[in-house]
Amino acid sequence: MRAEEKRKPVSVWKESDVIEGRKVPAFVAILRTVGCWWSRQRGCLMCGYNLASDAGIGLEDLRAQLETAKERYDGENFVKIYTSGSFLDAREIPMELREEVVDAFGEAERILFESRPEFVTEENIQDLKDRRISVAMGLESGTDRVLRDCVRKGFTTADYERAAFLLRAKGIPLRTYLLLKPPFLTEREAIEDARRSIAYASPYSESVSVNPVNVQKETVLEGLWRRGDYRPPWLWSLAEVLKEGKGLEGTRLFSSPSGGGTPRGVHNCLDCDRGFLEAIERFTFSQDEREFEGLDCRCRLEWKALVEVQDAMATSVDVGRYLSSGLDLE
Ligand code: SF4
Ligand SMILES: [Zn+2]
Repeated sequence: MRAEEKRKPVSVWKESDVIEGRKVPAFVAILRTVGCWWSRQRGCLMCGYNLASDAGIGLEDLRAQLETAKERYDGENFVKIYTSGSFLDAREIPMELREEVVDAFGEAERILFESRPEFVTEENIQDLKDRRISVAMGLESGTDRVLRDCVRKGFTTADYERAAFLLRAKGIPLRTYLLLKPPFLTEREAIEDARRSIAYASPYSESVSVNPVNVQKETVLEGLWRRGDYRPPWLWSLAEVLKEGKGLEGTRLFSSPSGGGTPRGVHNCLDCDRGFLEAIERFTFSQDEREFEGLDCRCRLEWKALVEVQDAMATSVDVGRYLSSGLDLE
């Protein structure tokens, strides 16, 4: 990677988020780091984030990235600093930089970092005294078998629980990410896994984000998708999961699908994808399942039929792909 690239964040953008029920402007920066340690070992099956990292990135590169990101900051209430790995892993974000990151966004009410649970330790978070900090963990599924066989997450629900209890004891709010439809699950199993996982994670979490799988480049999952052994989830499935999981334990449930409406992301058919994605965006802020009322499309029958065919054949392959044509896999 060229020197100037190491000094640029992966991306910076603005969106909205919620703090204690209020919709607020949010600022997001993805810093380029040495990458997630687990992705260098075995890595999660669907993760291609390591493509944006570089082993040679050092403290001064990170400082330069922070400066660049700060130039775009306009006092948004919610600041999210991602690394496509773990902010709390000192190999990615050296200890001395943590405070500089927090200080850089003095006007923010809330600052969110992401971390795997192994870095949420008493010793590692004792310096996170700033009351504005919250932590997000990518649990993906509340079922250990799915974590091991379908995600290859490299940790268990017990690891998540330990970290979640510790955050609660320290008064640090937790956002949990769940995955909708890891590989090797049928569409119905994926819906059930997400439902169970929402019920499991809600008591520990201030908010739960359901992330429908997006097929990233150069991943194991991409190989399965290319040969027809995987289809990203349907928007029908995501809508069901959100409607039913809403408000459990008073936890905010939402979804911000990346790649939605494309062959690599959560999708239905070209006619209704946009309507569904808009309803999901509205639901994210209103938490009102009536946002999904009136959404109908001829593809509902196709979705239901495929769910049943997969069940009958006991297979998670993309059976619909063999029945229709025209999917443009790029
Ligand atoms: S999904 Fe997260 S934990 Fe898994 S390899 Fe990617 S960055 Fe690491
Ligand atoms: Zn449709």
